[in-house]
Amino acid sequence: MESYGQMIKDMRSVFLSGKTKSEQWRSTQLKAIVNLIEENSEKLCAALQADLHKHKSEAFITELALCKNDAIHAINHLSEWMKPEKVAKGLMFMMDNACIQKEPLGVALIIGAWNYPVQLTLLPLIGAIAAGNCCIIKPSELSPKTAEFLQEYIPKYLDNDCIKVVNGGVPETTALLKERFDIILYTGNSNVAKIVMEAASKFLTPVILELGGKSPVFIDRNTDLNVVARRLSWGKFLNAGQTCVAPDYVMCPKEVQDELVSSVKTAIDEFFTKDPKSSDSYGRIVNSRHFGRLQKLLEGTKPVIGGDSDEKERFISPTVVTDVQFTDNIMQEEIFGPLLPIITVKDHNEAIEVINSREKPLALYVFTNNKSVREDIRQKTSSGAFVVNDTVLHGGLCSLPFGGVGNSGMGAYHGKHSFDAFSHSKAVLEKSLGMESANSIRYPPYTEAKLGW
Ligand code: NAD
Repeated sequence: MESYGQMIKDMRSVFLSGKTKSEQWRSTQLKAIVNLIEENSEKLCAALQADLHKHKSEAFITELALCKNDAIHAINHLSEWMKPEKVAKGLMFMMDNACIQKEPLGVALIIGAWNYPVQLTLLPLIGAIAAGNCCIIKPSELSPKTAEFLQEYIPKYLDNDCIKVVNGGVPETTALLKERFDIILYTGNSNVAKIVMEAASKFLTPVILELGGKSPVFIDRNTDLNVVARRLSWGKFLNAGQTCVAPDYVMCPKEVQDELVSSVKTAIDEFFTKDPKSSDSYGRIVNSRHFGRLQKLLEGTKPVIGGDSDEKERFISPTVVTDVQFTDNIMQEEIFGPLLPIITVKDHNEAIEVINSREKPLALYVFTNNKSVREDIRQKTSSGAFVVNDTVLHGGLCSLPFGGVGNSGMGAYHGKHSFDAFSHSKAVLEKSLGMESANSIRYPPYTEAKLGW
C-alpha cells in the first residue's frame, strides 16, 4: 500500500508557509466550491443517481443546495468569524488586551460515508477551508461514482497544494490513518470510529466523529396523524432509509398504532405511488451486503406495509412492521434502510425509560401537542438533536450544531460550528511592559501587606 507520508509532509510545509491562513485564500477556495457545484450539478446528480438512485430533487435538497448554501454562508461571515473575539476582563487585566484568536489546526483528514457522499465530504471541507486548514478528503468507496467525480473535479477547482482527494477503501484509509493529522473528521459507523480514534490517539490528534445509531420517534395521543405520517415517512424513506438521522423506530400508545399505519400507507402511496419500485423518487440499497443485512432484519416479522424486495435491483419497498418487541432482531442494530418498526408503549414516560436504557441517539423525534410531554422528554433524555413535530430537517438549519453524543458521536459541525470545529481557540493576552509597579504584588517575597487582606 502506498504511503501518504510525503504527501502530508508537503501539505504541512504549505500550511506552515501561511498560504491557507489569509482570508483571501479561504474565500477564493469557498467560491470555487460554489462554482464546482453550480457548474457540475448535472454530473453530480448523475453520480448520485448511479450510486443510490437518488432523484435530482432529493440530490439538490439534501446534498448540492445544502453544501452550496453552507459555502455561501461561510463566505459571507468569514471576516467576522476570523476576527479576534474580545473577552471580559477583571480589574487586574484592565489595561491589557485579552481575546480569543481562532487559528487553523493544520492538515485535516475528512473520511466520508456513502449515504450522502457529496454532503459528507464537501460540508466538512467547507469548514476545514473556512478555518484555514489544508485538507485531504477520503470519500467512501461504496459510492464510487461520486468518489470518482470528486477525485476528478476537486483538483480542477481547488488549490491542489492544499486540498487533495484520496480514493480507496479500508487499505487506503488504514494507510492514511498511520500518518499524523492535526484533526480528523470521520463519518460512519461506531465500530470504525473506534479504529479512527485509536489511530488518532497515537498523535493525540483531535477527532470529530459523526456516527449513527437508532434514532427513536415518540408519537403521542391526540396528534394529527395525517401530518405526522407525512413528516415521519418523508424522513424515514428519504434515500431509502439510508440517512443517519432517519427515524429508526416508532413508539406510540397502542390505540394510536392502527390509525398511524393507515396514515403512513396513505403517505407512502402519495410519495412513491402504489408501486414504489417504478417511482423515480425512491432510492435503492447501496450494495448487496446491506440488502442482505436488511432482509435478515425482516426475518420473522409480518410487515403490515410493504415487505417486497428485488435483489437484482437492490430494491426494498417502504416497509412497516407492528407490535415489535425490543428483543426482536430489528431492534438490535441501526436499521439504515426502509424498514420502520412500531413498538407500543403505555405513555411518554415509558418511552423515556426506553430511550434512557439504550445508547444516546443521534436524533430524537417527538410528535405531540402537549407541552408538558414535550418538555418532559427534552429534559429527561439526551440525544444529538431533539426535534418536535418533524424529522431530519434540523440538519438543514446551519445555525444548529450537527453531531451526536455518546455512541452517536462527538463534536459537531455545519455553518459556524464547522469553522469552530476545525479551529483552535487560542487564548491571547497582550500586556505592555510599562506600569511595572502595578505588578509588584504578585512577585515574591510574599507579604500580607502586599496581599492587602
Ligand atoms: P462507509 O462504509 O462508507 O464507511 C465510512 C468510511 O470509513 C469510508 O470512507 C470507509 O472507507 C471507511 N472505513 C470503513 N472501514 C474502515 C476500516 N476498517 N478502517 C478505516 N476506515 C474504514 O459508511 P458506514 O460506516 O456504512 O456508514 C453508515 C453509518 O454512518 C451509519 O451508522 C450512519 O448512521 C452513520 N452516518 C452518520 C452520519 C452523521 O453525520 N452523523 C452521516 C452519515 C452516516
